[in-house]
Amino acid sequence: MTSSFYPPQRTLMGPGPSDVSSRVLGALCRPTIGHLDPKFLQLMDEVKALLQFAFQTDHALTLPISAPGSAGMEACFVNLVSPGDTVIVCQNGVFGGRMKENVERCGGIAVMVEDTWGEPVSLDKVEAAFSEHPKAAIVAFVHAETSTGVRSDAAAICALAARHNALSIVDAVTSLGGIELSIDKWGADAAYSGTQKCLSCVPGISPVTFSDRAVERIKARTHKVQSWFLDMQLVMGYWGEGSKRAYHHTAPVNALYGLHEALVMLEEEGLNASHARHLRNHRALVAGLEAMGLGMAVAPQDRLPQLNSVLVPEGVDEAAVRSALLEQFDLEIGAGLGALAGKTWRIGLMGFASNERNVLFCLNSLESVLKAQSANITSGAALSAAQASLSAA
Ligand SMILES: *Cc1c(COP(=O)(O)O)cnc(C)c1O
Repeated sequence: MTSSFYPPQRTLMGPGPSDVSSRVLGALCRPTIGHLDPKFLQLMDEVKALLQFAFQTDHALTLPISAPGSAGMEACFVNLVSPGDTVIVCQNGVFGGRMKENVERCGGIAVMVEDTWGEPVSLDKVEAAFSEHPKAAIVAFVHAETSTGVRSDAAAICALAARHNALSIVDAVTSLGGIELSIDKWGADAAYSGTQKCLSCVPGISPVTFSDRAVERIKARTHKVQSWFLDMQLVMGYWGEGSKRAYHHTAPVNALYGLHEALVMLEEEGLNASHARHLRNHRALVAGLEAMGLGMAVAPQDRLPQLNSVLVPEGVDEAAVRSALLEQFDLEIGAGLGALAGKTWRIGLMGFASNERNVLFCLNSLESVLKAQSANITSGAALSAAQASLSAA
């Protein structure tokens, strides 16, 4: 007989999922009700309003897609790209590559703007792409590249898109809740996120938002959206305004209780306070890592506070370090990806997991494991450096 599954209690400091608070876990196990129950419709309205707050937008078409971040990405592309459209895709890590794949599967032409992994999207290169392709319909880019820990200038790229009469698609999976994300101020036309990064909810839901310009583009389509499930005109029948909501699919009822709770927590803390907390803990972590003698992979001005790429010291087996952290300390950190595979670790300080305790715990555990591997590091300096940084902030 197969027995029940009891997962270990881990500390999640990788690229996501992040630690889920007991408040959110508690919300998940409240009684399931019907997905058209009037009480549930009330919760849906609150989730939409809370997402508008989190995205800093008044866009009416703001809702959670019932599937993970990758589905939010796909929802933006399948609805906005028509066959033959030219789309400028910025790639400086893993996720830009997936955008290209989405454009091509929609019958679009992807014009790639490539930057080195570990560096932000170059505005000059985007401008140059527009000079060569003045009719480009869309610019797509990743705001917070989780694969490298780099932040790109979303405000500037959205402004560039608008100046060239193109729509902007923003991957905000890792930025939402962790750093400033001002959809309306920046004039972003479509953005998608995920629940398991800086919102610290369970994986499997993707908040999305579309501007009125984007909605006009969707309504003017002459080709049917290739995905039935992600066709926003159909999804709107369920998530739209008023009481005439019709069945489209069964919403993940309990997962939405969790998202609601996570967003209530974000509202209670305040966006600016959440961003400041992420920054403070990031600075303390970096101070500790540097005191240990470890280097960061990304230049200071481009770093994401919620995802820290750390250079693996010479002669250290990076995978063995991650396994030892998991086995001895129940601590998960991430491996480098693509061009950075084997060269970096990715330490997440996302959402609920971005706290002082985790900063000190991670430094202490990493130091212990690196010492056991006879790595050439400075011992005994990391914790006090982190603490000094925390008390200075
Ligand atoms: C995690 C992530 C995704 C994909 O989200 P899933 O929920 O794993 O599908 C997309 N883009 C970025 C930048 C991410 O960090």
